[in-house]
Amino acid sequence: MSDGRTTAQKLIALIERDGAIPLGDYMAIANSDYYASRVPIGAGGDFITAPEISQMFGELVGLWLTDLWSRAGSPADAHYVELGPGRGTLAVDALRAMAQFGFAPSVHLVENSPTLRAEQQRRLTEACWHEDISTLPETGPLLIVANEFFDALPVQQLVRQNGSWHRQMVVRDRNRFRLTVGEEAVAGGAPPLLPDGSIFEYSPASRSIMGDLSARLAAQGGVLLVIDYGHARPGTGSTLQAVKNQLPVSPFDDPGNADLTVHVNFYDLGSIAHKHLLSVHGPVEQGQWLTSLGIGARAQALIRTEPQRQQEVEAALHRLTHVDEMGRLFRVMAATPLGWPEPEGFVY
Ligand code: SAH
Repeated sequence: MSDGRTTAQKLIALIERDGAIPLGDYMAIANSDYYASRVPIGAGGDFITAPEISQMFGELVGLWLTDLWSRAGSPADAHYVELGPGRGTLAVDALRAMAQFGFAPSVHLVENSPTLRAEQQRRLTEACWHEDISTLPETGPLLIVANEFFDALPVQQLVRQNGSWHRQMVVRDRNRFRLTVGEEAVAGGAPPLLPDGSIFEYSPASRSIMGDLSARLAAQGGVLLVIDYGHARPGTGSTLQAVKNQLPVSPFDDPGNADLTVHVNFYDLGSIAHKHLLSVHGPVEQGQWLTSLGIGARAQALIRTEPQRQQEVEAALHRLTHVDEMGRLFRVMAATPLGWPEPEGFVY
């Protein structure tokens, strides 16, 4: 949008030049413009995330990191790293909880939206910002948090047709964007024996980030905490969806003005971590993880000190942990390198 064209105009120009474009390219352009042009998260935005529901979420993440760090011998050169920090709420709450235990790591935020970066800068003054993970510090353990980050990264899809795999593409047709199946068959990358019509979805961007971070953790120490909605087992089918004003819309109606997301493939991310000899913990359900870390006691303590907030705190607790709310849909996975202690909350 920075060049004055709308997202739709950019996509149309690309399609006029190249013909159909791969679904992942469509998603990458749409989401990059979407996050660059607004602060979408919060009560008045398109969607709400766990840290925006309650301070308890970020505080527990901070205490979880502090516990792991102290059992790792309290390395003085550890860094707090967050991927896609949104409004910065999780970082603010986590760092405040960590400081109460004397843990004040340097702060590195990976954010490619100038708008959200400015929002984060208003709330976190002592931080370094990074456009991508390549410039993160190369020495010292990395304590990396990614809440609702991987679901925003673009996916590609392969569609099974006449016994071979074809790329899922996007075209412009009668003034609308729509999916079409690429003519050329592509070799490799997907399981061979699936029936016609099957869709195999994968995220090259997520795989690449997971691979690079796993290598960093193996070399430098630390942990990666991933919290997101997604599946624990490999599967087929499209998980692409779009949200606008907290309601589902078609991903093809208004690119750049709706949040395009996918289900995170935890199985895929875990396999990549394993290749780098990391231990993978979970994924477990968010409700169970938060409960085993003591979110119930944290809620009671908040209510004792501020009784007027009882209803609000109880509603937030329900929303974060109940199986019909975020408790089951969201999952938590952690990866640690050899020599790092077992993180809390994954055995129940
Ligand atoms: N973690 C926050 C925000 C989630 S929204 C929360 O829980 O509230 C997704 C975040 O990831 C936004 O900050 C968005 O700008 C950022 N983001 C999306 N794609 C990115 C990319 N490729 N590189 C860096 N940041 C990205």
